[in-house]
Amino acid sequence: DIDQPIIEEVEQEVEEWAEQQQRQLRDYERFAEYRRRYVGDISHELKTPIFNIQGYLHTILDDDSVLEDKKFTLKFLRKAAKNVERLQTIVEDLGAISRLESGELILDLETFDIKELATEVIEELDLKSREAGVTLSFKPGADTGFLVRADRESIRQVLINLVTNSVKYGNSGGETRIGFYDMDSFILCEVADNGIGIPEKHLPHVFDRFYRVDKSRSREKGGSGLGLSIVKHIMEAHQQTINVRSSPGLGSTFGITLGKA
Ligand code: ADP
Repeated sequence: DIDQPIIEEVEQEVEEWAEQQQRQLRDYERFAEYRRRYVGDISHELKTPIFNIQGYLHTILDDDSVLEDKKFTLKFLRKAAKNVERLQTIVEDLGAISRLESGELILDLETFDIKELATEVIEELDLKSREAGVTLSFKPGADTGFLVRADRESIRQVLINLVTNSVKYGNSGGETRIGFYDMDSFILCEVADNGIGIPEKHLPHVFDRFYRVDKSRSREKGGSGLGLSIVKHIMEAHQQTINVRSSPGLGSTFGITLGKA
């Protein structure tokens, strides 16, 4: 039968086409589900501070006796202001993530000394960390700087997020040390603290957006739950890595790799 091979070919083509359609549909459904969850997560995160602000303002506005008590009124206004700050952090961090995810962030690669950048970051966060009772310093042996090639502003954001976390989740009287290591094909930069640490089962998730080990502690410290997600995006944009090791009660060490200049 001379028609047979053609029919088989056509059948195969139709099958391949159907499979491709199914794959596209599955991809689309996955994307739709991702978007649904993203929007859901964001609205959930925004709700808490908005409810808080509403609560504090209504307490003042709905009760003359509260309004007449200046101390009380001030206390509630300060709490409302703190929640506005939280909203602001969340919105700013979301903006950063959306720029990173859309590929809008074009890396401005330059050659710089990572120790110099870390010194700037330590200086910038010194006051905040001293208030929390955490000392910032370099690891012994980290006295030489290393030249790396990366987007300086983004890596500065990475270090700020990591050091800020080490202070937020550190203990009063604790310390954070930044170390640098020449690993031949790359530079390893580590931010190590002796704070509360992260239980092992949470470690794979800490870079997910809005993931928190301890929700109340994170919120109380003004965290948006997006800091490590931003860090991960920035490192991925550099085609570099971020790792974490941690022991509850002993502390955490976050390490990033950077290309040598
Ligand atoms: P957040 O705004 O909540 O700090 P992040 O994305 O920066 O959000 O961090 C995610 C979670 O990872 C935090 O809520 C906290 O539970 C945990 N975490 C991050 N850094 C540290 C650290 N240095 N020590 C202990 N836990 C940490």
